[in-house]
Amino acid sequence: MDGLATDIAVLGGGLAGSLIALALAKLRPDLRVVVIERGERLGGNHVWSFFATDLPSGGTALVEPLIAARWDDYEVRFPKVRRHLRTPYHSITSTRLDAVVRAALPAAAVLSGCDIAHVAANRVTLGDGRTIDAGAVIDARGSAGLPHMVGGWQKFLGQLIRTATPHGLERPIVMDGTVEQHDGYRFVYCLPFSANEVFVEDTYYADGPEVNAPLLRDRIGAYCTAAGWQVAEILGEESGVLPVVGSGDWAAFRAGHESPGIALAGVRAGLLHPLTGYSFPSALAFALDLARQDDVSGSALAAWSQGWAARHWRAGGFYRMLTKMLFAAAAPDLRYLVLQRFYRLDCALIERFYAGESTLFDRLRILTGKPPVPFFTAVATVLGQPALNPLGPPLPAA
Ligand SMILES: Cc1cc2nc3c(=O)[nH]c(=O)nc-3n(C[C@H](O)[C@H](O)[C@H](O)COP(=O)(O)OP(=O)(O)OC[C@H]3O[C@@H](n4cnc5c(N)ncnc54)[C@H](O)[C@@H]3O)c2cc1C
Repeated sequence: MDGLATDIAVLGGGLAGSLIALALAKLRPDLRVVVIERGERLGGNHVWSFFATDLPSGGTALVEPLIAARWDDYEVRFPKVRRHLRTPYHSITSTRLDAVVRAALPAAAVLSGCDIAHVAANRVTLGDGRTIDAGAVIDARGSAGLPHMVGGWQKFLGQLIRTATPHGLERPIVMDGTVEQHDGYRFVYCLPFSANEVFVEDTYYADGPEVNAPLLRDRIGAYCTAAGWQVAEILGEESGVLPVVGSGDWAAFRAGHESPGIALAGVRAGLLHPLTGYSFPSALAFALDLARQDDVSGSALAAWSQGWAARHWRAGGFYRMLTKMLFAAAAPDLRYLVLQRFYRLDCALIERFYAGESTLFDRLRILTGKPPVPFFTAVATVLGQPALNPLGPPLPAA
C-alpha cells in the first residue's frame, strides 16, 4: 500500500466525508477517491434527521438510498401552540451510510480503522506509516470545538425505547415544549420508528455544555410515563452537545484550522446551521457542489472550499442574530416563548428557516409582530455585544 495514489483523499468518513465520497462516486466516476476513517464504520454510530425541504437541488437522488425512516409530516407542541406541519421528515443512519458508500466505491477506496497521523497538501500519512499521494486532500475530520466563537449549546440525551404496547404516536414530535423548563429552553423530541419503538430525546438550549446523563434519563422515563408509554426495553442511547453560534471571528477560526493547499469540509470548515447546530443540509450541498468542480487539483479545491465556507458564514448572519436574541435577550426559562411564536408562522417560512434559506420577507416576518422577548432588550442585544459563552475549549466527543 505504500505510495498508494489517488485523485482525491477524503480525511474522515463521518457525515461530510461520506457524502463527499458518495457524490464523487456518483457524479465523477472518472476520479479515484479514497476515504480514510479512524472508526471501523463510516459515520460512526449516528442517526441524522432532516426535513425533505432541506435538500439542495440534485440532493434527493443521492440521499434516497440512505433514508432509514421517513414520515410525511410532524408536530410541535407548546403551552399555547399545538401544530401539525405537513413537511416530510427523514432519518438516515450510519449503518446505511456505511453500506451505501462502500457499495458506490471500489473496496480498496474505503480505508476504515485507519488513523491519520500527518497531512500535507498532496500526501497523507497514516498512523501505521503508510502514505497516500493525492491530487487533492479534503479534510473532513470533524470539529475540535469552535474557539473564536461565542453562543450557547444544544445538548441532548436520547433513548430508543421499545414500548410494552403500541405507543400510538403517528408522526415525529420535533419539539414538545410543553415540558417543565430547566437549564434554558427544554423540549422533548420523539421519533416513532415503528409501532413499538420510539426514540425520545430530552434537549436543552443551554448556556453550558454539561450533560447530567442520569437526570436526563429520569426525565425521559417521566415523559414516557406521562405519555402512557410503558418502557419494555431501552434499545440504544445517544448524547450530543452541539454549539449554537451567536457570533465569532471567522478569519481567526479558519486560520486555526487551515493548512495551505488543503480543502476543509463539514463542521471542521464551520459548515453548520448557527441556530440548530445541524450540518446535514450544508454537508450535502457542499458535496454536490464539489463534485461539479472542473478543476479538482488540491490548490483549486482549497481555494474553492474557502470561498464556499466564507459565503456560508456570511449567509448565517441572520441566524447568529437570532441565537443572540434567544440566549441573551430571553430569560432562560422564557426562551420557549421565542420558539412558540416562531411556530405560529407560515409552514413554508419554517421550511426555509431550517434549510438556511430565509428570504428577506421571512426575516422581517420572524422579527416583527408581537415580540416574544422585551423589545428594547432584544434591540440592545442585537446591536450590542452580549455576553455569550465561548464555544471552545473542545467539544465533548460525539
Ligand atoms: C448525537 C448527535 C446527533 C446529531 N444529529 C444531527 C441531525 O439529526 N442532523 C444534523 O444535520 N446534524 C446532527 N448532528 C450534528 C452534526 O451534523 C454531526 O455532528 C455531523 O456528524 C458532523 O459531520 P462531520 O462529517 O463534519 O463530522 P463527523 O461526522 O464527526 O465526522 C468526522 C470523522 O472524522 C474521523 N476522524 C477524526 N480524526 C481522525 C483521524 N485522525 N484519522 C481518521 N479519522 C478521523 C472521525 O472518526 C469521524 O468519523 C448531530 C450530532 C450529534 C453529536
